[in-house]
Amino acid sequence: MNESISAFLKKRLDEYAFRPVTYKKGTVARSADGVVTVTCLPERRYGELLEFEGGVFGMALDLSEESVGAVLFDTAESVRAGTAVHGTGAVLEVPVGDNLPGRVIDPIGRPLDGKPLTPQEYYPVERPAPAIIDRRPVDTPLETGILAIDSMIPIGRGQRELIIGDRQTGKTTIALDAIINQKDKNVLCVYCAIGQKASTVAGVIETLTKAGAMKYTAVVYAGASDSPAMQYLAPYAAASVAEYFAAKGRDVLVVYDDLSKHAVAYRMMSLLLLRPPGREAYPGDIFYLHSRLLERSACLSKEKGGGSITALPIVETMAGNISAYIPTNVISITDGQIFLESGLFLSGVRPAVNTGLSVSRVGRAAQHPAMKAFSGTLRIDLSQYREAEIFTRFGSDPDPATARLLKRGSTLVNLLKQNKSAPYSLFDEVSLLLAYRENLFTELPAGQFKTEIPRFLDYMRRACPDILRQMNRTGKATDEDTNDLTTAVNAYEPGGAL
Ligand code: ATP
Ligand code: MG
Repeated sequence: MNESISAFLKKRLDEYAFRPVTYKKGTVARSADGVVTVTCLPERRYGELLEFEGGVFGMALDLSEESVGAVLFDTAESVRAGTAVHGTGAVLEVPVGDNLPGRVIDPIGRPLDGKPLTPQEYYPVERPAPAIIDRRPVDTPLETGILAIDSMIPIGRGQRELIIGDRQTGKTTIALDAIINQKDKNVLCVYCAIGQKASTVAGVIETLTKAGAMKYTAVVYAGASDSPAMQYLAPYAAASVAEYFAAKGRDVLVVYDDLSKHAVAYRMMSLLLLRPPGREAYPGDIFYLHSRLLERSACLSKEKGGGSITALPIVETMAGNISAYIPTNVISITDGQIFLESGLFLSGVRPAVNTGLSVSRVGRAAQHPAMKAFSGTLRIDLSQYREAEIFTRFGSDPDPATARLLKRGSTLVNLLKQNKSAPYSLFDEVSLLLAYRENLFTELPAGQFKTEIPRFLDYMRRACPDILRQMNRTGKATDEDTNDLTTAVNAYEPGGAL
């Protein structure tokens, strides 16, 4: 595998029509841990591919008059002090094209799924973000199919929404559910796995395949055993793959799973390149590392084809600390965050979204009118419920108003619980919110929601098939529709026979 990275790059470089015929050769002065210092190699550009004697490739990252600092793509024993090096004049590129959905590739474009890949076009891995004039405001919702998110933290196409939380709190699951829900919605997806175990990613691919989502999803993978240089490049390569589709006017959803590991890979490279360490030993340009990546997601203007790239970056926190370095950086770059809490996750509230700390800064403008009409007070209801709940823990008997608030609050929490890989349609979500508004499930024991909700949704779909079709197509509900839905909701008997 190691050798083939270089063999692959060599083949790719040989495809260029013009190759320099005279090389200025440099010499490796120092080589350790995949990082080399090369002397006597002038006129190299940032990010240029360097070819080492023996057919190994590296990328130039530190340029000075006397020397060039570079990282190797393979852990190559053949590169040692004295090895000859020359520049190739090329920067790293990734194959893009309409044949990528359904495929698994690494950041340099090698197929990882055992099938041959015929590249249609190449894009450089690093590309500039669209300019202000090329963008337009976010105005179309990107439905995740997760009720807690679509109702309270709505995401719009072209938005960047961070998913943040401790390990094993369901971060990846939320991103995958969002991908699964794009079926038949004309949105292409790119899932970028950085520094993850191969077994985890195999699980992700299996989940997507089972849900029929691999057909419209490309996976870009640089694993835990790949070199830091490959892990560093992975999200940029994924962004290039997405940009190809966006330039054609398509809507794209990209998931970066996760940027904490990306930052760690970059820190490793930077420390080995002897760049001065800053806070938490990250290098000085760590903010720029993620801002230039996330700025590439945008809602493009009509003149630029009108496509969009929605980004769902994932960041892992330690003990819920969202004020650590990487989390605060990425929070400030994105248009909002979905904060997942392990306390909630372990108490069975899944998805474990902490609505108090989660926001979406632009998504409300893009929310479906039908959803907007019923989701206005949910956040306040939940926060009042959490507050009242804390007081009643001391054993005092609540007054009738508080008792009602508690009952409604716990009903809402139960309604927002949702299984993984089971996204709701807009109609389902609106029906559940109406049921909450009409206090349909207030008397239902907590244990029965799991069986009751599918039964209720089934009933609603059969009771109002016309509204179902029209709402899922247009995202709107007229007053008459709402009245019909309300009548249907009130005619339902929770726990009873249909
Ligand atoms: P890591 O930090 O390891 O990347 P993560 O935060 O991405 O973890 P996931 O892998 O998405 O978390 O989920 C952790 C576990 O919780 C998985 O086994 C998953 O099946 C389960 N899980 C996540 N969401 C739900 C849910 N809504 N309902 C039931 N189980 C869930
Ligand atoms: Mg994960």
